[in-house]
Amino acid sequence: MKANRIIATIGLAILASGTIQAANTGKPFYGDPPDDRHPWAIHDRNRPQPPRVEPKPASELAAKAKAPAGAVILFDGTEAALAKWEADKKDVHEPTKWIVRDGAMECVPKSGYVRTKQEFGDCQLHVEWAAPTPPQGESQGRGNSGIFLMGTLEVQVLDNYDNPTYADGFACSVYGINPPAANALRPPGEFQFIDIEYRRPIYENEKCVDPGYITVYCNGILVQDHLAPDGTGGHMKRSKPGPMPEKGVLKLQDHGNPVRFRNIWIRELPPRTGVTPSHGPLSAEETAAKRKEIAATIRSDAAKLASPDNPLPELLRALESLTYEKQDAVVKKATELTGKYLQKLSQLPKDQLAGKKEEVKDLGAAFKYLDKWNLIPAGYGPKADVDALIKAQGWQDVPKANK
Ligand code: MG
Repeated sequence: MKANRIIATIGLAILASGTIQAANTGKPFYGDPPDDRHPWAIHDRNRPQPPRVEPKPASELAAKAKAPAGAVILFDGTEAALAKWEADKKDVHEPTKWIVRDGAMECVPKSGYVRTKQEFGDCQLHVEWAAPTPPQGESQGRGNSGIFLMGTLEVQVLDNYDNPTYADGFACSVYGINPPAANALRPPGEFQFIDIEYRRPIYENEKCVDPGYITVYCNGILVQDHLAPDGTGGHMKRSKPGPMPEKGVLKLQDHGNPVRFRNIWIRELPPRTGVTPSHGPLSAEETAAKRKEIAATIRSDAAKLASPDNPLPELLRALESLTYEKQDAVVKKATELTGKYLQKLSQLPKDQLAGKKEEVKDLGAAFKYLDKWNLIPAGYGPKADVDALIKAQGWQDVPKANK
């Protein structure tokens, strides 16, 4: 057993005995008090510590931690990568004083936060960080930094391997909002693998249409599960949900500790629907408009497939458009094309007709689907004609025996 693990075990025993003062997990009468939706105060020292869950082995996580194609590499261990970052100063753009050492970007205490030059919105983010060793300080004073999404929402970076603190300020808490579901940290000096999925809240006309969410994995363990962030969090103050800009910079915190970062990459996520200007859920009108647009694209595609020798490809593609938009002209065209198709089949010698079995059955299945969803008229003649051909040829599927 490692020394710090032994110390943690002794610490827990002391806590359990209740005879010695509890570990410093925060002050009373400090952050905003409990309210009618929150049973805990902000930075509530009475809130339970996250339970210990062993992290997944680094060897297992390393392969998955490689940046996927298309991701923006924000730090790859090189000095040159610092060019993607700058000091976090209002209205000023200047290089950061953070340094690169042994392939990691290291916070230089009192040099200030660092921010990306590029802005990001909804994203998948991977960050690896390591707390200084040997550990110094306690509670919020030990290995503190932070990953600030859109410059405001902090996923806490803190050495809590053997260091209790108020639960909503624990490593991988959404700071001031929600503790992590587990303490899956490695000891200080070792890199923690953090994976974040973030969707910003969306408002339309000052009304929330999607609260957004954040999911965090710490060393492969799920610790924030699709959390609607309830504002941007922060120190001592209870934040309130509200709109966010579409994009913002990613920041890393200088909290006075030389925390190290490596392998930082971000993958921007496409809008939730890709249709509405706000990327929010579609209204009935917007849905209808989008369906009309898709149907028109498919109809135009169908027209390009027109062939006097084989009407089937155009027919099937045209029928597909009916699932997006019912249109009498398409139904009429389908009647005409089915007629032509069956006419051609009727001219085939028996052995060649046998070779058409699967495509005829596909057409039969398409009609069956459209009929089920009332997308073709009830008792639609071409469907009946195709069904009759399948039956005449004995091509029906044999019903599965009841077991
Ligand atoms: Mg912090």
